[in-house]
Amino acid sequence: MKVRFWGVRGSIPTPGHDSADVGGNTSCVQVLTGHAEPLILDAGTGIRLLGNALMADAAASQGLAGHVLLSHTHWDHIQGFPFFAPAFSPKNEFYVYGAGKAEERLEDVLKGQMNYQYFPVALDQMGANIHFVELQEETFTIFGDVEISTRAFHHPGGVYGFRIVHQGQILVYATDMEYTEQNLDPKLIEFARNADLLIYDAQYTPEELKVKTGWGHSTHTTAAYLAQQAGVKQLALYHHDPSHTDAQLYQMEAEAQAIFAASTLAVEGLTLDLDRP
Ligand SMILES: [Zn+2]
Ligand SMILES: [Zn+2]
Repeated sequence: MKVRFWGVRGSIPTPGHDSADVGGNTSCVQVLTGHAEPLILDAGTGIRLLGNALMADAAASQGLAGHVLLSHTHWDHIQGFPFFAPAFSPKNEFYVYGAGKAEERLEDVLKGQMNYQYFPVALDQMGANIHFVELQEETFTIFGDVEISTRAFHHPGGVYGFRIVHQGQILVYATDMEYTEQNLDPKLIEFARNADLLIYDAQYTPEELKVKTGWGHSTHTTAAYLAQQAGVKQLALYHHDPSHTDAQLYQMEAEAQAIFAASTLAVEGLTLDLDRP
C-alpha cells in the first residue's frame, strides 16, 4: 500500500507564502492499493486536485467506481466534495461512507452544504451515481481484499478512525481526536497497534492545546507518544493548524522525531510507501 496526501491542513484552507511548502488544502488522503478504483479518506479541499488527477487518467474515461470514507462531516473534511470532478460524470459511481447518526442522515448533511444558499449545483445534479453508506463500529471489505475497520473516538460531534488492512499491511487514519499523553485512550492504542503507517492529528502544540481544550484535537508530541505506545512503524503528523507556518511545522516534526524517530510531516503531494518506512 501507498498513501498520497492531497490535503494536510485542518480547519480551513491556508493559502499563502509561509504555508506553501507544506500545503494549504484541507484533509484528503488517497490510499493506493493496486486496484484501479480510488480509495479516498476525507473530502477536504485536497480532493479537488485528486479528482482532476483521476479525470486525467485514461482509465477514468471508461468510468470509475470509487470509495470515499469520511472521518466525520466537519467542513474541512467535506468541503472539497462539490469540486470533485469525477462526481459530475454519469459514467462514475461512488460510495461515500460516514458515521450513521440517529439525528441526521449522512446524505442530508452532504446535500446540506450544497443547498442553493451555499452552492449553485445540488448534489442530486452532480451526475455520478452516488451511494451513501452509514457506518457503525464495524469491519467490512472492499475491492475483495481491502479490509476496513471503523472505531469512534473523542471529537465534538464524533469522529471515526479507519484501520485499513491489505496484503498484511496496516494503515491507520486517526484525525480530529483530542487526547493527551496523560489520557491516551487504550482503545486508540489498540486500534493503532502495529500499524505500518499511522496518520494522526497533530494540530496543536501542547501550549496551544491549553487554550484550545475541548476543540477536539491532539498535539504533535501526543502523536509521537501514541506511535511509540502502539508500536507503529511510521507516523505521519497530519491536520496542521492554519496558523502554523512551514517553519513552525518543520520544527514540530523535529520535536516529534525526538520522541519517535520515524515521524514524518504530512506534506501536500507527498507519497508514503508502507513497504519502506
Ligand atoms: Zn478537521
Ligand atoms: Zn473535526
